[in-house]
Order: sequence, then structure tokens, then C-alpha cells
Amino acid sequence: MASLVSHPDEVKVVSKRFGMGATNIDRYCELDGYTALQKALEMQPDAIINEVKNSGLRGRGGAGFNTGLKWSFVPKQSAKPKYILCNGDESEPGTCKDRLIFEHDPHAVIEGVVIAGLAVGAHAGYIYVRGEYRYLLEIMQKAIDGAYARGFVGKNVLGSGYNFDVYWHGGAGAYEVGEESALMESLEGKRGIPRIRPPFPAVVGLWGGPTVINNVETLASVPHIINGGAEWFAKLGTPKNGGTRLFCLSGHLNRPGVYELPMGYNLKKMIYDVGGGIPNGRKLKAVVPGGSSCPLLTADEIDLPMDFDSLAKAGSMLGSGGLVAVDDTTCMVKFALRIMKFYRHESCGWCIPCREGTDWLEKTLKRFHSGGGIEKDIDNIQYLSENMLGRTFCPLGDAAALPTISIVKKFRKEFEDHLEGRPCPFEEHLVSV
Ligand code: SF4
Repeated sequence: MASLVSHPDEVKVVSKRFGMGATNIDRYCELDGYTALQKALEMQPDAIINEVKNSGLRGRGGAGFNTGLKWSFVPKQSAKPKYILCNGDESEPGTCKDRLIFEHDPHAVIEGVVIAGLAVGAHAGYIYVRGEYRYLLEIMQKAIDGAYARGFVGKNVLGSGYNFDVYWHGGAGAYEVGEESALMESLEGKRGIPRIRPPFPAVVGLWGGPTVINNVETLASVPHIINGGAEWFAKLGTPKNGGTRLFCLSGHLNRPGVYELPMGYNLKKMIYDVGGGIPNGRKLKAVVPGGSSCPLLTADEIDLPMDFDSLAKAGSMLGSGGLVAVDDTTCMVKFALRIMKFYRHESCGWCIPCREGTDWLEKTLKRFHSGGGIEKDIDNIQYLSENMLGRTFCPLGDAAALPTISIVKKFRKEFEDHLEGRPCPFEEHLVSV
């Protein structure tokens, strides 16, 4: 079990039951568990949707779409069954928050899934757990069994006449399956590659039925919104960015860990105060603000609020909340290579710009870093990355291209320092890739 950290600036909403034994259903109920479900059972579906919409809750997986608005796209009438799919395929490098929710508060996920089902008129929910998180499946199974035994799921939920079944499904370990249409393919037992859209999952999803797909943290936030109200949740954050966020702080920091902070918390403060600053008196060089697919920020670009809109304005993304601090001992060419190696490995190979582009970029960056680069390579790396943008079936192509473009643009000098067979000036500090 991962150890927990804390900081006085934290506002514990989603993490309020962490470390309190809430995997046990009795304990979860003592800590207000399933009270939101009881409340939701007395609400009209549209009222639930409006409450979530007005709370400003935006998808915590990375896309940042308004959750209530997403739910409102599900047709009221459907010839096919509707489904809720909880995306627990947490694989974005730098991100490890959903794991903590599964470990410490699995009933909050189940409760959120059932409330989402009530809102859109679904009768089944699937919780997809990342392959590498198999050790969490036992926790999930026990939680699901407990919820059935107490009547929170199953037939006639709490005597309301509403039926809802919940299942977990374990992945096989593929980053690509975190993309929502590939997730559905995988759950249906097929190869995890994306579907061409439209149609979108809200209309044609799992087994052809309308499907709501939300991240674990998103769904675990829903019971708190129903209990605390949209206005309370919205006010915790910034305009259009309601609530709190589990930020995963890693890299060159004195106090790495997962911290729950209000949306809009200052990034610089997050690094130097919450994260304890950079070890050994070294300087910050760059920051990955929201997982490896985000454009990097330089050390003088970080005095800004951590919410979706502010990060977009700064030319990056809030993404999945995975913040990685990079100190001045790091070679940015090798950093770009490490990221590209990941995306080349995880590319599903379905479309050419991603399959060939990531492979070519990895090979070029490797040659470049080892001193075999020529000046033209620098522009070629940027040109090829820019040509991948928006030309692939799914966002993995963009995820590989965006950080690379930002590294070439912001740290070009470091590329130039590797030219003419010069050895990497940072080599003594590097770990092997
Ligand atoms: Fe597969 Fe990459 Fe194309 Fe996505 S962008 S479908 S991961 S090849």
C-alpha cells in the first residue's frame, strides 16, 4: 500500500477517507458513505445531471470536459441498454492518484458509478482496472460484494425499484487502452485499438449502447457533490474549474507524493512549498505539469494557477494532474528520448503517423544524444512532431509530439550542445534509458 503524505494547504474531499479503513463497508458508511446514493435515489435524473454540471466538475483523466454536460449527451430513450464505464486504466507517466482511490476508498467509486447510472438511466457499470494494478482487484471485489450484500447495488437498490449491477474488469497492461474507445474495445474482449468517431460513446458505446465513460477520480467526486451541493464544490476551485484535484508530485522534489489541493492552486507554490522544493539546492529547469503528454514549462513559466484554462492559456495542459519536476542536472535531449521511448513502445501501430513517427523520433533522438546528430536533425525532429499533430486516430500521436515540440523549442541550446560528436554534457548525472 502506498504511503500517504499531507500538507496544511490540502482540502481533503476525494481523499478525506484515505487511511481511515474505508475499504470496509461498515466504516465507509460511518464516514457518510452511500448517503449521496440515498439522496440521489430521491432526485430526478435531470436534477442529478444539473447538480454535477453546475459543480464545474471536469474530467480528471485529462480531457477536462464538463462531466454533467457529458452525461446530458446520453439519449433519454434507447433501444439498447446504457452503461457506465469507469476508466481506471491509469497509465499516464507521472500519474498515480486513481490507484490511491482504489486502495483507500473503493466504495466512493462504486457509489459514483451507481449515481451516474441513475442520472442517465443505465443499469450496469463496469470498473476497468489497469493491468498493472491487479493487486487492487481483490479490494474492488470485496467492495462490490459488500455493496451487493447491503443493497447499495443489485436488484431493487435500497428498496427503490431501481436495478444496477457493478462489475470490475482487469486490463492486460496497455497505455493505449486508457483512450476511451480503445477501452471499450478491450472491455468487449477485442484488441485495444481506438474506434473511429463519430459516433461518440454517449450515443454508441459499449456493445452499441449509449455509454458514459469517466475517470476514477471524476466518479469518486460525484457523491461529494451530491452531498455538499454544486455551489459548495464549484467554490472550492476557480470559475469553470470546480472542486479539488489529486495532484501527483514526482521527479526532483524533496516531498513527492499525492496531494489534494483546490483547483487553481499556484504551480510555483506547489513545487516549492507543497513539494518541498528541489533537492540538494539544485535549480528547477522544467516542469511537466499534467502527465508526460503535456508540453513542458520552463522554470520561469510556473507562476500560474493549476486549472484547465490557465494551463491551456500558458500553452500546456492540466492533463491527469501528474506533475514532474526536472532539475538542472537533467539532459533535456535524453528527457525527450525517454518520453519518446515510452510512446514508441505504447503506440498500438494502427495508424502510420504515430507508428512510424514515434519510431523515427526515438531513433533520431537516440543517435542525436549519443553524439551522432547533425544540425538539420533538430529542425527535422520538430517538423516531424508537428506533422503528427492532429493526424492520428487517437490522441497518442499528439501525446508523443507535444512534449517533444516544447523541448526542442524551449531547450534548443541543449540540442546544439550535442552536435559534432560532443558527448552529452550531463552524462555523469544520467540514468540509463
Ligand atoms: Fe494507435 Fe498511435 Fe494511431 Fe493511437 S495514434 S491509434 S496509439 S497508432
